[in-house]
Amino acid sequence: MKKAERALREKIVALCRQMNASGLNQGTSGNISARFEDKLLITPSGIPYEEMQPETIAALALEGEYGAFDGPKKPSSEWRFHLDIAKARPEVGGIVHTHSTFATVLAIARKEIPACHYMVTAFGGPDIRCAPYARFGSKELSEHAVAALDGRKGCLLANHGMIALGEDLDKAMWLAVELETLARQYYHALLIGGPVLLTEAEIAEAAEAMAGYGPAAQDAPEVSPPRPRRARRR
Ligand code: 13P
Ligand code: ZN
Repeated sequence: MKKAERALREKIVALCRQMNASGLNQGTSGNISARFEDKLLITPSGIPYEEMQPETIAALALEGEYGAFDGPKKPSSEWRFHLDIAKARPEVGGIVHTHSTFATVLAIARKEIPACHYMVTAFGGPDIRCAPYARFGSKELSEHAVAALDGRKGCLLANHGMIALGEDLDKAMWLAVELETLARQYYHALLIGGPVLLTEAEIAEAAEAMAGYGPAAQDAPEVSPPRPRRARRR
């Protein structure tokens, strides 16, 4: 296995553990995938994240037979939406699906997230859609998810959870955390009389300022740290 693939598999395992430790996700809910060359690396189905190892990650073929995979365990039951999103969105390198509480609460109420905060623009538009309900793991759910994600990097899944996308895994996880935060903020605003929404012009202005914001924008040339100075004697 190439070093880069091994590193990506390790990253998937680390992010799974991190998303549960931080409270973003719980149990064996949720799943993560990342594009590597002609395959999509994806978490196995129903395996507790503490037990998951880089070798247990499944590799789905991006081309050829739909659903063909390599690995010692079955890929996530949501392999269809991971694969269909990766195929429909060539710019996407990482996909995170969680059952985070506030996103799921809104999804249970079948509420989309409107332009209640400028951070909504980080997802590519003035709102975050809620995809209609379909059984977990189904092709129908995958079709709903791909449609709800059109022109967006995040969506809610009715009575289920949410999906966040990024050019790479760091960006996808960053947006998963931001999506849950937006959901929490919107939920609370609803409790105190409802939000005042941003106007189209305010959203357009924020979207422009948002371009390039986020973890990937930090790939700036490295600045060498200042050399440690010896403490001066008085
Ligand atoms: P998997 O364990 O099969 O990935 O399922 C978790 C989940 O969130 C299904 O929607
Ligand atoms: Zn799920």
